[in-house]
Amino acid sequence: MERNVVFVGGGHAHLTALLHLKDLRDNNAQVTLISPSGYHYYSGMGPGMLSGWYRPQEVRFHVKKMVEDRGGSFIEDAVIQVDAEKRTLLLVSGKTVPYDIVSFNTGSEIPFPGSARVQDNIFTVKPIVNLLSAREYILRRIADRQLHISVIGGGPAGVELAGNVWKIADDAGKKIKITLLAGTRLLKHLPDKVRSLCYRSLTERSIAIVEGSHVRQASDGALTLDDDSVVPYDMALLATGVTPPALFKRSGLPVGEDGGLLVNSFLQSVHFPEIFGGGDCISLEHYRLPRVGVQAVRQNPILYHNLLASLRDGELLEFFPQQTYLLIFNLGNGRGIFWRDNIVWEGRLAFRLKDYIDRKFMKKFQVSGELAE
Ligand SMILES: Cc1cc2nc3c(=O)[nH]c(=O)nc-3n(C[C@H](O)[C@H](O)[C@H](O)COP(=O)(O)OP(=O)(O)OC[C@H]3O[C@@H](n4cnc5c(N)ncnc54)[C@H](O)[C@@H]3O)c2cc1C
Repeated sequence: MERNVVFVGGGHAHLTALLHLKDLRDNNAQVTLISPSGYHYYSGMGPGMLSGWYRPQEVRFHVKKMVEDRGGSFIEDAVIQVDAEKRTLLLVSGKTVPYDIVSFNTGSEIPFPGSARVQDNIFTVKPIVNLLSAREYILRRIADRQLHISVIGGGPAGVELAGNVWKIADDAGKKIKITLLAGTRLLKHLPDKVRSLCYRSLTERSIAIVEGSHVRQASDGALTLDDDSVVPYDMALLATGVTPPALFKRSGLPVGEDGGLLVNSFLQSVHFPEIFGGGDCISLEHYRLPRVGVQAVRQNPILYHNLLASLRDGELLEFFPQQTYLLIFNLGNGRGIFWRDNIVWEGRLAFRLKDYIDRKFMKKFQVSGELAE
C-alpha cells in the first residue's frame, strides 16, 4: 500500500532527503513538500546577499522544482496545526493534508523585543529572504539623505548584519549611521578574542555599539531602551535570537523547554514514531543544541536514512550532536573571523574560506538551474 510522506518546510535539514526523493518513491511513497515559498534561502550567505556580495540566485534553492522534478508534489502553504492522533496537518489556507510519515524542518522565529510590534521599517532576519527586502529598502532611500539604521541583537547575526549594511553604503559612496544595539554585551557567549576582533572591526568603520541595555519599544522612528535612552532609526534589522515556532506546543505535541518539537536521538518525536524533525525547530532529548545551521546540515543524512528506513521497517540511525563546530563571520568588508575551539583569527582568508565552504554546500543542492534564473 502506498504511503504519504510529507515534508513540512524545505529547510537545511531536509535537503538530502528531497534530493534523493526518488528513493522514497521507489519504496511506495507519495511525497509532498509543504512550504510557504518555492525557494529556500541559505542563511550562511544571507548577510552577503544583504550587502550585494551575492545575487539572490546564488543563495537559494528552488525546492519546489527539486521536488516536482523527482516526482513529488509541492504545496505552497504553511502548517498551523498538527493532529497527531488523526495524522493530519491543517494549513493556513484551511486545507488538511493526511500523512503516514511526516518530517518537520520549519526553522525558528525572531521574537519582537519588549512592546515593539511588526512595522514596515523593521525587518526580522528570519526568513532570510527579508534581507533582500531590507537591501531594496535601503537602496531606494540611500540617495536622498543619510539613513540611520539600527541592528537589534548582539549575537553573530547582528555583527554580520551591521558589517554588511556598512558595505551597502560603502559601495554606494554614501554614509549610513549604523548602530548595533547589542543588549547586555556584544557576543556575550563567545570567547573574548572573537568579541574584541568583532568590536574592533565594526567600530573602526564608525559603527556604534551600544551595550548594557535592551530595546523596550520601537515607535515613530525611535527605539527606546531599558535605561530610557532613545536611538533614532529609519530602518531596523531584528536579530534578537531565535525561538522555535509555536506550532508544536499549540498542537499538543511533546516539546522541549523552549517549545521545540521534542525528538529522540533518531530525530523522531518521543511519542509519535511517525513524526520526525530537524534543524532549528527541534529540541533534542537530553541535549541543549545550539540553533546553528551546522546542526541542521549534519542532520541531513540521518533524516534521509531514517525516513527511508521507516518505509522499509529498517533500522534507524542515531544523530550525535557535534560538541564543537566551526563558525566564520562575514564582516562585510571582504574579511572574516574564524572561530573553532581555541583557534580565532581575522582576515581576508577567513572570508575566502567561508565563501568556499558556503558555495560548496550550495553546489551540492542547487540542482534545479538556480544560477541561470
Ligand atoms: C543572519 C544569519 C546568519 C547565519 N549564519 C549562520 C552561519 O554562518 N552558520 C551557521 O551554522 N548558522 C548560521 N545561522 C543560523 C541558521 O540560520 C539556522 O540555524 C538555520 O537556518 C536552521 O536551519 P533550518 O533548516 O532549521 O531553518 P530555516 O533555514 O529557517 O528553514 C525553515 C524552512 O521552513 C519553512 N517553514 C517555516 N514555517 C513553516 C510552516 N509552518 N509550514 C511549512 N513550512 C514552514 C520556511 O519557509 C523555511 O524554508 C545564521 C542565522 C542568521 C539569522
